[in-house]
Amino acid sequence: MALDLIYARHRMVDNQLARRGIKDQNVLDAMRDVPREEFVDPGFEEFAYEDGPLPIGEGQTISQPYIVALMIEAAGIEPGDKVLDVGTGSGYAAAIMARIAGRVFTIERHAALGKTARRRFEKLGFDNIELRIGDGTKGWREAAPFDAIIVAAGGPGPPQMLMDQLDIGGRLVIPVGPEARSQRLLKITRTRGTKFEEEDLGGVMFVPLIGEQGWGEQRQADD
Ligand code: SAM
Repeated sequence: MALDLIYARHRMVDNQLARRGIKDQNVLDAMRDVPREEFVDPGFEEFAYEDGPLPIGEGQTISQPYIVALMIEAAGIEPGDKVLDVGTGSGYAAAIMARIAGRVFTIERHAALGKTARRRFEKLGFDNIELRIGDGTKGWREAAPFDAIIVAAGGPGPPQMLMDQLDIGGRLVIPVGPEARSQRLLKITRTRGTKFEEEDLGGVMFVPLIGEQGWGEQRQADD
């Protein structure tokens, strides 16, 4: 079983990531290395390397491997970077980034998901991830500025507080759109003090970003 999962992990990297154009060697190496089966709910291990999202409880999902790779590659994360991850969920994306970056700060609004993710980080020996339960649309002011911020849930627009917590040259990758489950994936780069450049990376489908600078609680209840 364990060996099957290792083979499946390498096949996932070759077929779902490299073949679809993911080129960042750090991302490919990290995704060969981190066991995704440790980040899915018990009973879902055999599906860990399928080409799609999986349920993780609380109505949330662990994102499709390709989307995780696409967002991290777009954010241009490099060794030594300080990264903010909004929407910890299972913790998988934070773990991939922690293999590449210097430090990862990750925020989850559901306490139960945060608790499980924290246990996974401890079990797998990640000592460069800090996790907080709260509203990630407000960022993590004490740890700012960040080289990169990744948001794994879709909001109506890019939260100003996250843009303000980018370092000069920092990148924010976030799904944005008027509907809760259909967005454009944007890469916003802070080029100078108050100057930002925006790039549209294509259409995506994410769970809603619920918070002060996201959607209201009702948006999730309607889902
Ligand atoms: N990156 C995650 C992974 O690898 O499993 C995927 C996370 S899932 C697609 C999005 C997560 O964002 C959910 O766990 C949801 O509870 C969380 N979320 C939504 N709004 C949030 C907010 N304002 N602050 C923090 N987390 C939020």
